[in-house]
Amino acid sequence: MAQINENFLKLSGAYLFSTIAAKVRAYREQHPDREIISLGIGDVTRPLAPAVVEALQRAAREMGDAATFRGYGPEQGYAFLREAIVKHDFEARGIAMSPDEICINDGAKSDTGNFQELFGADARIAVTDPIYPVYVDSNVMGGRTGELLSDGHWSKVVYLACDAQNGFMPELPREQVDVIYLCYPNNPTGTVITRQALQTWVDYAREHDAVILYDAAYEAYIQDPDIPHSIYELEGAREVAAEFHSFSKTAGFTGLRCGYTVVPKELTAKTRDGRRVALNPLWVRRQSTKFNGTSYLSQRAAEAVYSPEGREQVEQSIAYYMRNAQKICETLQALGLRYFGGSNAPYVWVRTPQGMDSWQFFEAMLHETAVVCTPGVGFGPSGEGYVRLTAFGTHEQTDEALQRLAGWLTKK
Ligand code: PLP
Repeated sequence: MAQINENFLKLSGAYLFSTIAAKVRAYREQHPDREIISLGIGDVTRPLAPAVVEALQRAAREMGDAATFRGYGPEQGYAFLREAIVKHDFEARGIAMSPDEICINDGAKSDTGNFQELFGADARIAVTDPIYPVYVDSNVMGGRTGELLSDGHWSKVVYLACDAQNGFMPELPREQVDVIYLCYPNNPTGTVITRQALQTWVDYAREHDAVILYDAAYEAYIQDPDIPHSIYELEGAREVAAEFHSFSKTAGFTGLRCGYTVVPKELTAKTRDGRRVALNPLWVRRQSTKFNGTSYLSQRAAEAVYSPEGREQVEQSIAYYMRNAQKICETLQALGLRYFGGSNAPYVWVRTPQGMDSWQFFEAMLHETAVVCTPGVGFGPSGEGYVRLTAFGTHEQTDEALQRLAGWLTKK
């Protein structure tokens, strides 16, 4: 009989967003006339940039012509895209990077979920809390997390709490950890890390022989010139960090799919008998076995994001969302609610009022205003007492949602 990987049974039944969707569906059935607005799920609403659409059309025509048709592409991605990434995302910031340290993927979720496969079953994982759930859940599948405790923590995971008390800056782990997940600008809190604080993490990882998995999926939203866009802006990071990027939130690719992972050649981990092994060839080997590449169309579309027109158009979309973020912050401020993030990220992390917990506030807001938020506790135990609002709606939807919110909370 085929035995299952019982680690899967440890996972909670529904992914956070499926639970939210079920609750919204139930509300819609009870209130069919009410227009529901979502400030919850982190999906974009702006269409693709015209430069991206033109690149897609060109690529589609090439694929329809025998002279220019492409089948399987290079396993790490086409050189034209890897070279554009190196030039614009790294060299333009004074970071040396080689195209063969870049692996193109179908978005950051796959690689942030899959990268843990490179580590041993007893590797100790540290995560900031709250956190993007994929990091922990993929390690649950990998059998590294122990048992789920009644407080929502996994027994073998080291949680680095991020809350208002520590200004959302995690403390360095007090015990030995092997793999550290960091995400800045952060989903869900919308907070960022300074260059100095990030250097502390790089130094820590070098000293303690840990690997940092740095998720930079939201770096395009950074407005403050002093905030690092990449961990490789910090000295020594090439030896200790892999980095994940995505065109999803940068350029509206959530439906098109493209991203990339950086695995520098200096990045190593140890075998049980103490031998150092480079992670780049291991990751390339893993990808070439289990992943057959991102479509040529998506890669040509991603290349167009770096063209002069593409960059300008993409920046306009980001500015559009950041105007929403600013309005959300202004409204919360006027309502006297405590909030964090929203100035270098498309997420605003709101303290729930009057001692309500995350799900109570979610339910009350849905029923009173028909506006959907994301309960903070769904991102980890330290998210309890917070909800996440996103700036990814249209201006009209966001304004309407904020008006409803103001009406409800001033009435309360
Ligand atoms: N990383 C973070 C922190 C995210 O919030 C998301 C998506 O919401 C992703 C990665 C995955 O994005 P994608 O797979 O669309 O590139």
